[in-house]
Amino acid sequence: MVNLTINGITVKVPAGTTILEAANSVGIEIPTLCHHPALSKFGACRMCVVEVQGARNLSASCTTPVSEGMVVETESERVVRARRVILDLLLANHPMDCLTCQKLGECKLSDYAYHYGVRQTSFKGEKHDYPLDDSNPYIVRDMNKCILCGQCVRACEEIKGQSAIGFAYRSFSTQVGPPLDEPLSYSECVYCNNCVIVCPVGALTDKQLLNKGRSYEVEKEPVICSFCEAGCEFEIIRRKNKVIGVEAKAAAPGRPLCLKGRLGLNFIYNPEATSPPLLKADDGSWQETSWETALGLEQIINKLKQLEGQKANPADNSKEA
Ligand code: SF4
Ligand code: SF4
Ligand code: SF4
Repeated sequence: MVNLTINGITVKVPAGTTILEAANSVGIEIPTLCHHPALSKFGACRMCVVEVQGARNLSASCTTPVSEGMVVETESERVVRARRVILDLLLANHPMDCLTCQKLGECKLSDYAYHYGVRQTSFKGEKHDYPLDDSNPYIVRDMNKCILCGQCVRACEEIKGQSAIGFAYRSFSTQVGPPLDEPLSYSECVYCNNCVIVCPVGALTDKQLLNKGRSYEVEKEPVICSFCEAGCEFEIIRRKNKVIGVEAKAAAPGRPLCLKGRLGLNFIYNPEATSPPLLKADDGSWQETSWETALGLEQIINKLKQLEGQKANPADNSKEA
């Protein structure tokens, strides 16, 4: 075990723990853009920098392991100044589109800009103007909003094992996407949506949720998919008691939700699938009835059949006894 101090709090964690993990273990939050606990460490965005006493530079807390006697400050003046510069640089090439962005309310970039008081960029220069990739029925890709955190690339490779997307080009032109700059619909993508779940900004959006409500207007409920025997976990998204979407649980790697599970919710509101059950009346006509009645009757019929079978085969009956 290693002892250290974070923001004046004594912390004891196993050797090999990162500063970020140690801070989180005692409820200290450090902002991150490229980090996700279910993915490999990347250390690219530098939002998680902290001040370690005696160190010349600020350290990326997501990749720096703790050491005995370490003294860490996570919100010192120097750290806050560095984070403001990072946000300023990110906003320099970012559309200020929050008013209509589907991600507002759970976008880390806008949350941190708000928290650190960065209203706009102080840099002037060229901005990207990529066309939207709207080529498939499931995911909308707006690379103008991408902050190159690489979480989608790692989620595709490490959670789904698909490697449908990767980094391309260099410097200012760097972007993530399928090989040869093709639309997603031409790639190996299987639309598992794990990349959408981990994207910290509005660069990737689940098409079925577009314009259906802000994140703070919806409720999420964990459920188990019943479409096949794998029983994947996912979250049903409801707004005003109506199911508007389904979200894969990226934090549960190894069992990403398949397309059938994600899009099966269409059955709920399919007018052809919700016709009530019919019950044959004494006069031979079919009458509508409730599911409770129909299912209750079915149970009774099964029980009667079982009793009938026992009567016809007393040997089976005694075997059972
Ligand atoms: S991605 Fe975030 S910061 Fe960018 S427009 Fe959307 S809400 Fe605003
Ligand atoms: S939807 Fe799944 S397969 Fe497609 S790019 Fe995203 S993570 Fe990869
Ligand atoms: S699309 Fe989203 S997750 Fe992927 S690199 Fe860009 S910001 Fe990160």
